[in-house]
Amino acid sequence: MTPLLSVEKLNVFYDAFQAVHDVDLTVGEGEIVSIIGANGAGKSSFLKALVRQAGRVTGSARLDGCDLAALSTREIVAKGIALVPEGRKLFPTLTIFENLRIGQELGRKGDIGFEQVYEWFPVLRERRDSRARELSGGQQQMVALGRALLANPRLLLCDEISLGLAPRVVNELYAIIPQVRERGVAVVVVEQDISRSLAVADRFVCFLEGEVSLSGRPADADRDTIMQHYFGGA
Ligand code: ATP
Repeated sequence: MTPLLSVEKLNVFYDAFQAVHDVDLTVGEGEIVSIIGANGAGKSSFLKALVRQAGRVTGSARLDGCDLAALSTREIVAKGIALVPEGRKLFPTLTIFENLRIGQELGRKGDIGFEQVYEWFPVLRERRDSRARELSGGQQQMVALGRALLANPRLLLCDEISLGLAPRVVNELYAIIPQVRERGVAVVVVEQDISRSLAVADRFVCFLEGEVSLSGRPADADRDTIMQHYFGGA
């Protein structure tokens, strides 16, 4: 069966600096894959490359067989990939509702509408008319996740959604991921918190200096091996 996402020999360059080296990755329909790795390992560059938001990209990335190389970011979102970017990237002076609506306008038609997002994150309904800048960090992250989900992606990319947030809020955010998968959406989670990342994933990939240093199923990987491939020196 063709995987939903199929990436071969993906490289990302920022001028002469190469941040991602020959990465191969497949993600199946409804699969949750986590990418772990230290600061600067190239995780964000990899995710951003999939939606044409990172430097110069070579190699191949296909969504359900469709080559993404020729498409713009907008076209890629419309095809079914949505990114929750590191740092959320909300429009601070727009309301929650207006921020969320952007996802719906740019995305695909599908089952995930405002009601579903408000069910997942009830606080967003209560505060729908507040400006994004007035929200707590956790609430802002819910908006960023909600905005991506309203695009009705087939593949959701989450970049460090736990960053700087209290564990209780992180739990709330991560609780949504299996529910999203139940709708057939595949998810790639980039996370520095290894335990959190492995707990949610069917499969993981570890990046070290822009290369895949280890991959497997969380249950099959022991902590020491992971740490060696996370920090290097394996
Ligand atoms: P972090 O957890 O810190 O976000 P990461 O694993 O996501 O790390 P990237 O953000 O992809 O890693 O960065 C990989 C490398 O590429 C780093 O050395 C970083 O300094 C470099 N880099 C990232 N973005 C740019 C850019 N726009 N211009 C130049 N270099 C960049």
